Amino acid sequence: MTFNPHLLRDAFPILATQANDQPLVYLDNAATTQKPTQVLNALLNYYQTSNANVHRGAHYLSDRATGQFEQARTQVARFINAPANSHVIWTKGATEAINMVAYGLEWQLKAGDEILITSLEHHANLVPWQQLAFRTGARLRILPLTSKGEWEPEYEHYFNKHTRILACTHISNALGVHTPLTHLLSCAKAVGALTLIDGSQAVAHETIDVAALDCDFYVFSGHKMYGPTGIGVLYGKAHALDILTPYQTGGEMVRHVSYNSTEFNDLPFRLEAGTPHIEGAIGLAAACEFLAQLDRSAVQTWEQQLAAWVYNELRFDTRIELYSPEQGSTMVSLGVPGIHLIDLNTYLDSQGIAVRAGSHCAHPLMAQLGVTGTLRASFACYNTLAEAQHFCSVLLDAIEILSDD
Ligand code: PMP
Repeated sequence: MTFNPHLLRDAFPILATQANDQPLVYLDNAATTQKPTQVLNALLNYYQTSNANVHRGAHYLSDRATGQFEQARTQVARFINAPANSHVIWTKGATEAINMVAYGLEWQLKAGDEILITSLEHHANLVPWQQLAFRTGARLRILPLTSKGEWEPEYEHYFNKHTRILACTHISNALGVHTPLTHLLSCAKAVGALTLIDGSQAVAHETIDVAALDCDFYVFSGHKMYGPTGIGVLYGKAHALDILTPYQTGGEMVRHVSYNSTEFNDLPFRLEAGTPHIEGAIGLAAACEFLAQLDRSAVQTWEQQLAAWVYNELRFDTRIELYSPEQGSTMVSLGVPGIHLIDLNTYLDSQGIAVRAGSHCAHPLMAQLGVTGTLRASFACYNTLAEAQHFCSVLLDAIEILSDD
């Protein structure tokens, strides 16, 4: 283990919190990450020096705010290797980005068309497609990926001339497994389907290159990659964004309005109605800078090593079911049959350890696993081996205390 997370911890003041009179051990990073001072300062600095509405006013502060806001778009475009700024649409987060696409494509779908998702999706990448299918008469099909996320030749049969959209996650938020993206994308392309990747659980851990992925859409939330809440990204290829009907209409997204008609603005503004989350975008750009200055592959290896360490520590305990893959995951999702997840969660919390117990917004996946939920410990760049060890020992204490016999 070579990466040293201790060097980063000072940049995250919240990590010094005492939670229930114990040092906080924050292992709920898949839900949201903590924010470095670099991001906090960017937010403060924006309000202290540049606050104004963007793109409208012809005055000093408005120019300054607009400059910083559009510079943030440039940085985010660079961060995901988008070919130009106009491919980056600001959204509230991944959920809004997926809804924008699902709504925007409605006019393209008809009865008999097929929308393909995988069985590993978060509700955010399921419900919008399901509802779109209800509205249009299209059929929602589920590619039955196993919890190992491996590619199986029979999956090819899910792609056919009716497949219009493939929407799949990059990494499962409930299990930490990677989906077989390369195969999925090439099958989708072979039948001319549009492709959307939900990168919510990938952006914090690996370098995203939308040009190399060659997907039509890629979405993520800023708050899961050390950025602020309330800001996210819809990346799209030009032709893919062009065919989206605007999800919302109003100011900013128009060029000219009369009582009889509206001429929409160019991309990216056509899909961004109303005053945007200006400081959120600036904060997200600061998060990109924070990540870019790290050795990304060393961080990812470290996070995976922590999860693998926990996995190996617990794997031979017959009371514990492990649902995450042994390797390549930055989280460990587990269950202890006979003990309520909430009781485990409460005990861990009493010892200052923050994890997530529940269905992780993935009810169908939980049903596939035959459980109502799992306990998930998810790692970020600032987590230490001591924290992983502490989690395991407190979990084992909890199991001992909460077992009936
Ligand atoms: N997709 C995945 C894989 C997620 O993990 C999440 C957040 N848990 C979302 C979508 C939705 O993100 P948000 O709530 O920030 O819109």
